[in-house]
Amino acid sequence: MGKRVLLFPLPYKGHINPMLEIAAILHSRGFSITIFHSTSYDPIDSTKYPLYRFILVEDGEISNRFISGLDDAVPRMMAWNNSCEQLFYNSLTSVLSDENEEPVACLIRDTHWYNLQHLANRLGVPTFVLRTGSAASLNWFMTFPQLVQKGRIPVQESQLNTPVIEIAPLQMRDLPLIGNRSYEVLPEFFMKGIDAIRASSGVIVNTFHAIDSIEVEKFQRAVPVPVFCIGPLHKFSPPSRSCLLDQDHSCLEWLDTQAVGSVLYVSFGSVAYMNYEDFMETAWGLANSVQPFIWVVRPGSILGRNKVDLPDGFVAVTSGRGKIVSWAPQKEVLAHASVGAFWTHNGWNSTLEAICEGVPMICWPHFGDQMGNARYVTHVWKVGIGLEGKLERGIIEKTIKRLMKEDEGVEIRERMRGMKHEASLCIKSDGSSSININKLINIISSF
Ligand code: UDP
Repeated sequence: MGKRVLLFPLPYKGHINPMLEIAAILHSRGFSITIFHSTSYDPIDSTKYPLYRFILVEDGEISNRFISGLDDAVPRMMAWNNSCEQLFYNSLTSVLSDENEEPVACLIRDTHWYNLQHLANRLGVPTFVLRTGSAASLNWFMTFPQLVQKGRIPVQESQLNTPVIEIAPLQMRDLPLIGNRSYEVLPEFFMKGIDAIRASSGVIVNTFHAIDSIEVEKFQRAVPVPVFCIGPLHKFSPPSRSCLLDQDHSCLEWLDTQAVGSVLYVSFGSVAYMNYEDFMETAWGLANSVQPFIWVVRPGSILGRNKVDLPDGFVAVTSGRGKIVSWAPQKEVLAHASVGAFWTHNGWNSTLEAICEGVPMICWPHFGDQMGNARYVTHVWKVGIGLEGKLERGIIEKTIKRLMKEDEGVEIRERMRGMKHEASLCIKSDGSSSININKLINIISSF
């Protein structure tokens, strides 16, 4: 009989997908997979993954207590941790005692499921943590509570551009805040997260050595647990089908009709939203840039609007060179030769996907680790241009042209080609991430 690995993703798309990619890697190496997921908040469509066993955790009441949106995101995750402990205990003990199933080798949980760590330790199940962001983001989480303690957060307006020397190259404006007043709850949230990592068997990070090794070393000096950089995870597993929304594949055929490197792909991920004024500025910025584009406008991503109300005249002006979809097959879009740039919110998955395909970025971060990721893109790797402050159609138009038409863009593109090459090396059979996957699997097999 083989062995089983238990997976606990956080119920957000940007966290679920990397966990599903780990599932695919482990399954291809002979492990059986059981995935625990929430019924109420971004549930996984288990019918799309017939090879895995799914266990529903009925937490409807918990999610319903919170409004959707960013301001409640951290309190919601903390409440999940408190309330799901008993629910997880019940389902976990029944899986562990089920003699018809393969024996459990280990559990892999999302970083933000910190209470699960202590539960698994009590039950004697070896547990790894999956960090779906960069290794650098772990250092940002670790430093945040100290900055609050020193009175540097909440950040004063005059301090926004001040470097945070503890976590260079970040500036105060880049700290991982999530909605208004999250600084009140984030210190406890981050400290619990880091303490639970200390109690784990190790951290798996969706990143690769060439871009994150200094931050890994820094993290390990403070938290001496094994770290496995095994990203970009999506390059090790077949494209996972979207579990949140159906992908509109017509944009791939449309891309076939466009010139090489001419299309701007615009998407702000699965959570970020904008107000209607910003939406209008974005629309006219795209129209006035005269550049072909694919624009993902997710249902619910325009504040206060149930449907996409495009400005008068927009469709006529962009006819033949603009395509709006509600959800794109992003990885395939970025890999298409016609795509020349990506206007992104810099979620870590989107950032990694752009690097893998060598697509330079326009950075417009919204919350959490996105600001820090964008800082790396614009100031460390220099493979993108930042769009700061209020969205304004003239600035959008100018930024698109800087990246796609001017000499500045040529240099950025050249550097991005270098990063793409680095990413392609780490996934080769003798590359750093492949070696780390083998190490991790050897350890899991030894349990
Ligand atoms: N994504 C997609 N289609 C879209 C927009 C996004 O498949 O139209 C995927 C994207 O490829 C990425 C994920 O959704 O894997 C978004 O994750 P990310 O970390 O970038 O941002 P989040 O959604 O967590 O803010």
